Amino acid sequence: MTRALFGRVPNFRFGTLRLRIAVLFTILFAAVMAVVMLLVSQSIERFGEKAASGNLSANAKVVDEILDLRARQMLGSADVLSRDFGFREAVATGDSATIASALRSLRSRSQSGSAFVVGLDGSLVEDGSGRYPPVDTIWGPLDDGGRKGLMRFGNDFALAAASPIEVPDTVGWLVVTQPLDAREMDRLAELGGVDMRARVSARSDLPEWARGTQDGEILEGRGENDHLYHISRLPALQDGIEPRLVLEHSLGEALAQYASLRYLLAGVIAAGLALVIALGFRIASGITRPLNRLDVAVRKFARGEDATLAVEGEDEIGRLATNFNGMVKAIAEREREIIHVGLHDGLTGLPNRKLFVQQLDEALSLRKDDDRVLVAYVDLDDFKVVNDTMGHPAGDALLRETAAHLRKQLPQARIARFGGDEFAVLISHIEPHSNLTALADEIQACFERPVDLGGHQAVSSASIGIAIAPGDGEDGITLMKHADLALYRAKRDGKANHHFFEPSLDEQARRRREMELDLRLAIRDGGFELYFQPLYDLRADRLQGFEALIRWPHPTKGMISPGEFIPLAEETGLILPIGEWVLREACRIARDWPDELSVAVNISPKQFLAPGLASTIMQALSTTGLSPKRLELEITESVFIANVDKTLGTLHSLRDVGVRIALDDFGTGYSSLSYLRSFPFDKVKIDRSFVQDLAGEGNAHAVIRAITTLAEALGMDTLAEGVELPEQMEILRREGCQYIQGYLLSEPLPMTGVTELFREMAHDKKRRAIA
Ligand code: C2E
Ligand code: CA
Ligand code: CA
Repeated sequence: MTRALFGRVPNFRFGTLRLRIAVLFTILFAAVMAVVMLLVSQSIERFGEKAASGNLSANAKVVDEILDLRARQMLGSADVLSRDFGFREAVATGDSATIASALRSLRSRSQSGSAFVVGLDGSLVEDGSGRYPPVDTIWGPLDDGGRKGLMRFGNDFALAAASPIEVPDTVGWLVVTQPLDAREMDRLAELGGVDMRARVSARSDLPEWARGTQDGEILEGRGENDHLYHISRLPALQDGIEPRLVLEHSLGEALAQYASLRYLLAGVIAAGLALVIALGFRIASGITRPLNRLDVAVRKFARGEDATLAVEGEDEIGRLATNFNGMVKAIAEREREIIHVGLHDGLTGLPNRKLFVQQLDEALSLRKDDDRVLVAYVDLDDFKVVNDTMGHPAGDALLRETAAHLRKQLPQARIARFGGDEFAVLISHIEPHSNLTALADEIQACFERPVDLGGHQAVSSASIGIAIAPGDGEDGITLMKHADLALYRAKRDGKANHHFFEPSLDEQARRRREMELDLRLAIRDGGFELYFQPLYDLRADRLQGFEALIRWPHPTKGMISPGEFIPLAEETGLILPIGEWVLREACRIARDWPDELSVAVNISPKQFLAPGLASTIMQALSTTGLSPKRLELEITESVFIANVDKTLGTLHSLRDVGVRIALDDFGTGYSSLSYLRSFPFDKVKIDRSFVQDLAGEGNAHAVIRAITTLAEALGMDTLAEGVELPEQMEILRREGCQYIQGYLLSEPLPMTGVTELFREMAHDKKRRAIA
């Protein structure tokens, strides 16, 4: 409805903005000027009309007065004759010839048009001109006292004056006339000095609007021909003629004198319009030029080119330019930031892997013939321990310090952080014969720094894998892959180690991949076996149980030891299904052993930290029916490295299930004794390395004594691994170690071996009983 009422707001969208502004200016100015022109024209017309009508009435008065003056002169000369004695006598005696002759001489004397005498009896004597009215039409005006006035002879009017002839009573009237024909009227009109026409008309001959009332007031009006009229009454000396003085003036002619004024005005307006158009374009240009410049700048900016605007003045446009420049700068800044963030590590500010790859590619493309480019992959040793014992802020600080230290120590190198505790070093322009081993040592040394580990000082170190172009690869991808392989190898070799890439590493990697595939097949096909190694109680002098040790009889490669494939299974996560199988299998087999014998199962760190270990164990126990107290789990200290709280939680939940827990390989990890205090293990398995040292001179005795003493104080059993010699066994017994395990007693046995052992034991018992 509203829409229908108002319609659509028109939008003036033609041409350019500049054109639109200019056209708008012009239209506005033209509209105003048109109104001015109209008003001025109307004023001119009204003024002209008023002036003309003023002139007309002034002229009418003049003509009136002239006519009256003339009539009075005529009356004067008539009076002279009518008072003449001879003339009166001639009238009294009716001497027509004398009268006529007197009249003729009067007419010529006074240069009038006619003269005649009418007697009261109705007789008429005239001068022979034939110009007189019907006698009976003049009595009315004369009786009313009229002496001057107009008469009409045919179509012509004449001015007349009547003088009474008295002897002494009035016997008649002497009338003198003068014609008021067109020529005469023109002459009168000319006296006014204004271009107008004058005539005498009978009232009845005038158009309806001009007739007015009988009284004949003055009428002024505008005829259809655009002429102004002034019509006034003239006295009549004859009944029924009603003479009117008509003055006529052409309005067009009156206004013609103002035409030049109009032309002047039109000229001024035209000039103004031209000026407005020019000015409109100029102003529009002033507005649109900066807009166009902004438009160009925005396009350039969109194309990613430099796009700053020149700032002119402090008006809106100047501010727009300033703000635009500010925006361009802010966006560029943000872009740089985003690029920086995308290519750098937030913690250390070092380049990230992406940027490192770019830098490496660049270095390789710039490499001269014999120059070499070194890529080193670095992994901080035991970074997890720092993170774990001192918290993440300390770990972050260590990473930042390491980064800063590297920057300072290796100014010629480009350093990157790949995340976690992995760094990369790129050194280009290495001379063909420079000492690479020394360079590797230099890099290694950069990572060897004292760190404060929760109060005690330790030395941080790193494992480093090195690949060198062009020998180890000419492209970035190959070099980085080879550095990674070398790092893998360096880590396996132990801490604070570097390893140069060598083609055999490739071969090893290939073999690892192959082994992984075979492992998957073995898991699917049940290709593993369990061996069991006896655990012996020295105090009770009897078998305590067995440790289950996995064996992999490979279809083509023969028996593969766990030392070879367990690390790979850990790395690949395959340890989870394998560990589950070992648990179930060990429980199943141990169930058939004599009740007093337990079975120990190794739980790898990955397996230990994976969720659901407790339920897997419960399931194994419940499906096999093995009593929980006959199952012992062996874990290593390394599980504490990841997360102490979580580890303790898991240990307690396992304890709740009712199984026993042994700390395996004790003495090889960090701050071992503190772990003993943090969790009440059931058993501590002292690592083989201490047992081997017992044969020598060192302080191994003291170490064993310290461990057994502490364990006893904490209520834990102790077992020594890898006992191969009787002397070792004796020393261990002396130093308070209750259990032993090792080749001295037995190597790990297959199932058949265990059955054989049981048979022998039964046999021995019998023999002893007999003896
Ligand atoms: P570990 O737990 O320390 O197991 C003891 C290792 O020492 C066994 O090697 C055993 O054969 C060996 N050994 C026993 N007595 C002597 C001795 O008197 N002298 C010497 N030199 N060695 C002795 P094995 O069976 O090759 O196992 C190596 C490692 O593989 C184990 O070390 C254990 O960490 C891991 N492992 C074995 N079976 C499993 C398993 O079922 N699950 C998991 N997660 N790890 C397993
Ligand atoms: Ca073990
Ligand atoms: Ca062990």
